[in-house]
Amino acid sequence: PGTDFRLLNTADREFENHVRPQAMDEFLGQPAIADNLRIFIQAAKMRGEALDHILFHGPPGLGKTTLSRIVAREMGVKIRETSGPVIEKPADLAGLLTSLEAGDILFIDEIHRLSNVVEEYLYSAMEDYRIDILIDSGPHARSIQLSLQPFTLIGATTRSGLLTAPLLSRFGMRFRLSYYTSDVLQQIIIRSAKLLQVPITPEAAMELARRSRGTPRIANALLRRMRDFAQVIGNGCIDEAIVRKGLEALQVDEYGLDEMDNRILTTIIDKFKGGPVGINTIATAVGEEPGTIEEVYEPFLIQEGFIHRTPRGREATDKAYRHLGRKRMDNGNS
Ligand code: ADP
Repeated sequence: PGTDFRLLNTADREFENHVRPQAMDEFLGQPAIADNLRIFIQAAKMRGEALDHILFHGPPGLGKTTLSRIVAREMGVKIRETSGPVIEKPADLAGLLTSLEAGDILFIDEIHRLSNVVEEYLYSAMEDYRIDILIDSGPHARSIQLSLQPFTLIGATTRSGLLTAPLLSRFGMRFRLSYYTSDVLQQIIIRSAKLLQVPITPEAAMELARRSRGTPRIANALLRRMRDFAQVIGNGCIDEAIVRKGLEALQVDEYGLDEMDNRILTTIIDKFKGGPVGINTIATAVGEEPGTIEEVYEPFLIQEGFIHRTPRGREATDKAYRHLGRKRMDNGNS
């Protein structure tokens, strides 16, 4: 395994913000989500109401934060951003909620990591725009009720499977983001390159798109690295030759699979003769939670045809064998 270019550094983060689409019309891909959001935003504006609570779920880097900020902008309201683990106590949540003005958005990233107590306080806030808080303790303990301005909660999570039913049911809109096609990623790369003021050929953009694991965040990170290669070993333009050399130097997988993807495939093939093997067994072997494998890694591997889900577990496909350069042994299964 080479350097993991997916670990974003500060410069990557700055770059991400620099190329982040600001308006719905600049947001490429996810057409069904964008169309629905446009309608709900327009309707809420016409009625002069706060937008219904929204949940965005799906693997990292697909645009959950970006969409949330776009929604705020299009609604013409402020967005306050926080994340599940940061809200430690009900009082932290109360502080955030009471600071919101009518129609504002509270964005909670990693909402599956909220503590149970905090989550329970969120229920009445989402439902009736009020929150009961306990003041004092012991014999003087009493609770007071605070009313809140109508607000919109936007939750984002990579692990919707961990959300409780009561929380899920309080989101009026739930959107699952899916992996991007290479065509759309190519457009995203071309757009980002323009903002970076670095020339790129359409073919080079397509090659980067194919190796980006269906993920805009990875596409942008790769583009940033390619700019360096173009400047140092080329003439400044990112073309196919630069991309070939750059991706080889970074040891980017032909299909954009990352280290964990490859570990999952090698495990199924080498340790379990290609499967079928249960998700828990795979998880133990690669040292990851079964839920993370199911919600973060496996969907891409299934979509790209590297593994199959069967009633008896996961199976590696011929494509996975070819990709890893393994020969399928006859193990008695057909
Ligand atoms: P998430 O919150 O799902 O982890 P982000 O919203 O932070 O992902 O997006 C990661 C990066 O990918 C950002 O730099 C953003 O600019 C870019 N990006 C995501 N979705 C799109 C899109 N549909 N079009 C263009 N760029 C996108």
